Amino acid sequence: MRAEPEDAPQKILILGGTAEARLLAERLVVEGHLVTTSLAGRTVDPILPAGAVRIGGFGGPEGLAVYLKTEGFDRMIDATHPFARRISENAIKAAAISGVPLEQRLRPRWQKQPGDRWRSVATLEAAAEALPLHATVFLALGRQYLDVFVGRDDCRFVIRMVDPPETPLAFADYSLVLGKPANDPDREADLLTAHGVTHLVCRNSGGPAGYAKILAARRLAMPVVMLERD
Ligand code: NAP
Repeated sequence: MRAEPEDAPQKILILGGTAEARLLAERLVVEGHLVTTSLAGRTVDPILPAGAVRIGGFGGPEGLAVYLKTEGFDRMIDATHPFARRISENAIKAAAISGVPLEQRLRPRWQKQPGDRWRSVATLEAAAEALPLHATVFLALGRQYLDVFVGRDDCRFVIRMVDPPETPLAFADYSLVLGKPANDPDREADLLTAHGVTHLVCRNSGGPAGYAKILAARRLAMPVVMLERD
């Protein structure tokens, strides 16, 4: 049997939901591969990548393994957000079950630079405890990470979300900023200043997309409570 040339078109599943996954899909489609990107379905109106798209969970690692085999994928690439841990674990298990090779392309984390005033924490609880009394706090966190801060009713929260919450948030004092982060640090700095923010809380997600707020905080010499991933 003749070996397949390395650049022969392949059927590739990308576990996506990130800007990097979109760029990857575009590149692989241009290279002639048959690409399907899988999205969890958390965002109401996602920017769709090139190639085919499927939306929704697989039903755990077994479901993902069945999907990979049934659809005849040659390989799978995990390009999910670095804090989306469960799907990455599922991908490892599904690759083992199905025998479909897995490649991980997770972003490297941001490194603290001169001028950064980061306090690194390992858990959300530690992040909530790290805030001083009566702080005005910008929460650059997904919806599922907010609840732990509700108990800090001495603080005022400015919360950025891509989509409006389905039910009102339980915070005593908060404002919502709807939309995606800006790429321009000046705009991020203006936003922080306009809301009188004294502390930024975010996750060390890495990548360029959310880095403008880090640059803004550095410019403003603003303390950042940085949730690190393990
Ligand atoms: P998670 O906790 O790791 O996954 C929870 C469950 O959601 C998984 O078990 C899986 O359900 C489903 N799922 C997650 N990603 C999926 C995907 N790409 N395609 C199909 N099903 C998926 O994930 P998460 O933190 O909620 O993130 C969900 C998605 O949003 C990811 O694709 C991620 O790249 C993107 N995202 C996440 C963040 C974040 O902060 N976590 C930020 C930006 C983008 P089943 O077990 O049923 O298969």
